[in-house]
Amino acid sequence: RESRFRRNGGSVFPVELHTGPVEIKGRRHLLSLVRDVTERQLLQEHIHHLAYHDALTGLPNRAMFSHALHHALAQAKRFCRSLAVMFIDLDRFKQINDALGHDAGDRLLQEMARRLTACLREADVVARLGGDEFVVLVEELASCTQVSALTGKILSAIAAQVVLDGQALQVTASIGISVYPSDGADERTLMKHADIAMYSAKEQGRNDYQFYVAQMSERAHSLMALESGLRTALSKGELRLHYQPKLDTLTEAISGVEALVRWQHPVRGLVRPAQFIPLAEESGLIIPLALWVLEEACRQSVAWQREYLPALRIAVNISARHFSDAGLAQEILAILVRTGVVPSQLELEITEGTVMQNGETAAQTLSDLKNIGIHITLDDFGTGFSSLSQLKLLPIDTIKIDKSFIRDLPGDSGYEAITKTMITMCKSLDRTVVAEGVETAEQLDFLRRHRCDQVQGYYFCAPVSGDAFSAYYRQRTSTSRGGSTDISKVAAGLGKK
Ligand code: C2E
Ligand code: MG
Ligand code: MG
Repeated sequence: RESRFRRNGGSVFPVELHTGPVEIKGRRHLLSLVRDVTERQLLQEHIHHLAYHDALTGLPNRAMFSHALHHALAQAKRFCRSLAVMFIDLDRFKQINDALGHDAGDRLLQEMARRLTACLREADVVARLGGDEFVVLVEELASCTQVSALTGKILSAIAAQVVLDGQALQVTASIGISVYPSDGADERTLMKHADIAMYSAKEQGRNDYQFYVAQMSERAHSLMALESGLRTALSKGELRLHYQPKLDTLTEAISGVEALVRWQHPVRGLVRPAQFIPLAEESGLIIPLALWVLEEACRQSVAWQREYLPALRIAVNISARHFSDAGLAQEILAILVRTGVVPSQLELEITEGTVMQNGETAAQTLSDLKNIGIHITLDDFGTGFSSLSQLKLLPIDTIKIDKSFIRDLPGDSGYEAITKTMITMCKSLDRTVVAEGVETAEQLDFLRRHRCDQVQGYYFCAPVSGDAFSAYYRQRTSTSRGGSTDISKVAAGLGKK
């Protein structure tokens, strides 16, 4: 039997008590054995703590949270109350961790755990699920506005400046919320739905929260189906490349061609890259996919030359995930050798965002590629916040102005001014400048007047199959100059998207 004893000084300590009858010299006595178990109990508490808490932050762990949620659900059912589960995931934590080192990453997580705890009531439970994922249980929920207010408080607590190794930075988080009973009656469903809502908050642009809604599950299911389909798309030969020409603004001669990937899905039809490239990046499928694209583009380039098309430089888009892969340059070299394409005939399009994200390693990778002789283009320029001084240092040949700037030309004085400035800037840095998304004669005219070197867009030709591209090329070179309207009709016919 366990009990508590009081010392002479008044302090209380735990004891283990064994009591039993004994006979001494024919008389019956009651003998009690008392053992001080303070140390044993401390050890047990410690072990219990270790089993149910996260060693880094001291917060409850997944097992403890599951226990608490289980208990809270039973109470909520019994007293007809509601409760909320909140998934909190730090935005871009991996990048911070990679940039500052794991030590700083750990301290950041500890600080975030402290901030989270400070936002909550005594009765709420906050746990760390692992990595940069936290979960909060809000019991005795009066209304959803109460949760909104709390998430607002949490988001701003997290976003307050942190100083790590003398460097000030701001971290944000995305939060997904599921509510009992409307979003699920059991632990597993509530956790799953909060997680799905959190992903939706990330998709909406991060640093925000989302309540779970049933449509999110449908979307998650359809994404999952798409992802599993993508795994076999490569082996089943369902990927295709389409090609879009780049033209010289003044002469309207075709100066290059960009390869754009499509997925010929057996049920959904032709799927655009925006729908599966992010999935491929997340699942790691991007590497085999990108290698297929590179090889197929090089193969096509050689096939065109066999048909006596002049050697056009062929551009391939490289995603952020693949760009940060250490083996990139080596893999590309192997493909060039295998297909017999000379490096100067290959161009890589890397988005401004990718380059900015990768900082110094980006400059190194770019110069490795450039040393091989490959042409480098900075894609979607204007969307990635790079500065003139950064641009000057990067070994890039061409800068491609993002189509969002071209869309409202001419007429929108803001976009006109920005585009003009971007062109002037690129020229002053001695880089070739291309405008993408050119759809009208007026846009072309504006770009021509402001000396943009090259243009690309539906006005000339939408991305089309390899065969259609060579037909377009022949048509175009046999038609006399100035016939861009006729040619755009040909292009529209070819651009069966
Ligand atoms: P991007 O490289 O900036 O390509 C330009 C996108 O604009 C293409 O969309 C193209 O079809 C579209 N476009 C071309 N002309 C016009 C126009 O006149 N008006 C408008 N509104 N749009 C035009 P697409 O093919 O859907 O590709 C979207 C993005 O997906 C590409 O943007 C590129 O970042 C990525 N992508 C495409 N192929 C690949 C690939 O093989 N690998 C990787 N990693 N990304 C790819
Ligand atoms: Mg591109
Ligand atoms: Mg672009």
